[in-house]
Amino acid sequence: MTSYQGKSVLVLGGSRGIGAAIVKRFTAEGAKVTFTYGASQEAAEQLARDTGSTAVRADSADRNAVLNLVREVGPLDILVVNSGIAIFGDALEQDPDTIDRLFQINIQTPYHASVEAAKQMPEGGRIIVIGSVNGDRMPVPGMASYAVSKSALQGLARGLGRDFGPRGITINVVQPGPIDTDANPENGPMKDLMHSFMAIKRHGRPEEVAGMVAWLAGPEAGFVTGAMHTIDGAFGA
Ligand code: NDP
Repeated sequence: MTSYQGKSVLVLGGSRGIGAAIVKRFTAEGAKVTFTYGASQEAAEQLARDTGSTAVRADSADRNAVLNLVREVGPLDILVVNSGIAIFGDALEQDPDTIDRLFQINIQTPYHASVEAAKQMPEGGRIIVIGSVNGDRMPVPGMASYAVSKSALQGLARGLGRDFGPRGITINVVQPGPIDTDANPENGPMKDLMHSFMAIKRHGRPEEVAGMVAWLAGPEAGFVTGAMHTIDGAFGA
């Protein structure tokens, strides 16, 4: 295991699920972690108490709230952008404002937060954005906005990887397949359909995603940037 002793880490969207596993992983290895939450105050405060991290309410749909926080807690050694939402339903029936809010949370805030963090980030800095295998493959109808948003993160990593590389800062996307969280519980109604697409017929665990994030954030991954890293039981294969 790599140690993140003394590293300053910000996780956007850390109160539950994959984000909470990432907070636990970095705090367990000695990092100084701040994380944001939107609605889940109780879960956020409990996690902060349990891990010695700092919880801050900041809506990822509110660009200025997030950018102010990035500036305040910086300079960051590691930024993880995990907050993301999915909207299901017929594209022809969906409210455009609701879709724009998804794009704000899933695309615009990841972009602007990455740029803001990089301004103060020292050499060796790491930016990791949680995308989805749905950036590569969308095998069901009703999730186009989500697929758009996760594909957009691929361009974000490729482009900003070029911009930040000369300063020794890497930026990568982790693309999970089905992971057992509140957003996609393994015992939910989609279980059999999702597992039918996969070679390893189970949901992944948040801790497995946190492990990939930790590796990308560590010294062994200094030559890895502008890239997508899929962890999906071969959902997208
Ligand atoms: P959850 O819904 O279980 O948790 C989402 C986390 O993001 C919560 O901590 C939530 O905080 C936070 N969040 C959501 N919206 C906002 C907001 N507007 N402002 C601040 N925080 C916010 O999701 P997962 O853990 O499953 O997903 C995490 C990431 O992984 C997402 O980007 C998702 O798209 C991606 N992903 C998940 C997969 C899965 O199968 N679970 C598969 C592929 C990708 P709060 O409750 O406090 O608002």
